[in-house]
Amino acid sequence: MVTLLDTTNAPGEQPAAKGDGKAKARHPEKAHRPDQPVQRKPAWIRVKAPTSPVYRETQDIVKENKLHTVCEEAGCPNIGECWSKKHATFMIMGDTCTRACAFCNVKTGMPGALDADEPRKVAEATAKLGLSHVVITSVDRDDLADGGAAHFAQVIQAIRQAAPGTTIEVLTPDFLRKEGALEVVVAAKPDVFNHNLETVPSKYLKVRPGARYFHSIRLLQRVKELDRTMFTKSGIMVGLGEERNEVLQLMDDLRTAEVDFLTIGQYLQPTRKHHPVMGFVPPEEFKAYETIAYAKGFLMVSSSPLTRSSHHAGDDFARMKGNRLQQLGY
Ligand code: SF4
Repeated sequence: MVTLLDTTNAPGEQPAAKGDGKAKARHPEKAHRPDQPVQRKPAWIRVKAPTSPVYRETQDIVKENKLHTVCEEAGCPNIGECWSKKHATFMIMGDTCTRACAFCNVKTGMPGALDADEPRKVAEATAKLGLSHVVITSVDRDDLADGGAAHFAQVIQAIRQAAPGTTIEVLTPDFLRKEGALEVVVAAKPDVFNHNLETVPSKYLKVRPGARYFHSIRLLQRVKELDRTMFTKSGIMVGLGEERNEVLQLMDDLRTAEVDFLTIGQYLQPTRKHHPVMGFVPPEEFKAYETIAYAKGFLMVSSSPLTRSSHHAGDDFARMKGNRLQQLGY
C-alpha cells in the first residue's frame, strides 16, 4: 500500500497519542523496536486544523457508510484541505494490512474477511459526495489468493454504475506472487492505475521490506502493455536517506516503464517506532525534481513537501489528460 503519514504535531513535539500504547496496538511488529528520534518540522510543513462544515459533512458520509479512508488511517496532513472539498480517498478491504512497512501508520496484522457489500457502500459514498474523480486504495491483502484484485474490480464496476460521470483512480498494492491479479484490475478499466514505489531501491530492505523494487516497476510497465490508453502513476517519499542521484535513476526506471505521472512528497514520521526522518527536503529541491522529471518525459509531475498520491488527484488528472492531447497534437 501507499501511505505517507503525519501526526500533525506542533513543531518540536514528539508525536503524542500514537507514541507508545496506541502504536504498540496498531503495530505489534514494531513494539520491541527502539524509539527513533523525532525531528522538529520546518516552517514549510504547516497545515491548518480541520474546522469547516464541509469537512464534517465528509466525515459523516464516511462514517454513515462505515468506510475506511487512508486520509484518517495514515494521518494524512492534508485532511483538513481535502475533506473541506469533499475529497476523500477510500481504503478498501479493511483497516488491517498484512505488510509492515517502516513508514506506514496503517494498522498491521491479520485482516478479517472481505465485506461483500463494500463495493456498493463505496459507490454510494462516491455518488453522495458528488466526486468528479475518486481515488480507491487498499491495504495489502497477502492472505487472499488474488490479493484482493477481484474486489478492486467490483468496486470499480459499482462506482461506474452509481456515479457514471466519476473518473476512477486506483492505488493498488504490488500483488506480489499473485499471478493474474493485475490483469483483473486492469480489465475493470480504471482511468488511472497508480502504484507507489515509495522509495529508491537501496532503501527497500529497511523501508519496504515485504516488497521488491523491480517487481513494482514491472507491474507498472505491464499495465501499459495491457492497455496503452490507461494512465499510470507512481509516487515516492523523500527524506528517508536517499541520494539525489538515486531519485534521478528511479525517474529513469519509471520512464522505461512508460509511467505518465510522478508524485514526490516529504516523508513524515508517524510515531517513534517508525523510520526516522533523515532530512527535510526544502521546497526548492522539490521544484528542481519537478523540472528534471518533466525533462525526462513525464506527462505530469507533482513535487512538493505536502504532495501525496491522492492530493489534488482530480485536478491533476484533468491536467494530465490535457497534456496527453497536447502531446498528440490536438
Ligand atoms: S492527500 Fe489524499 S490521503 Fe491525504 S487527505 Fe487528501 S485525499 Fe486523503
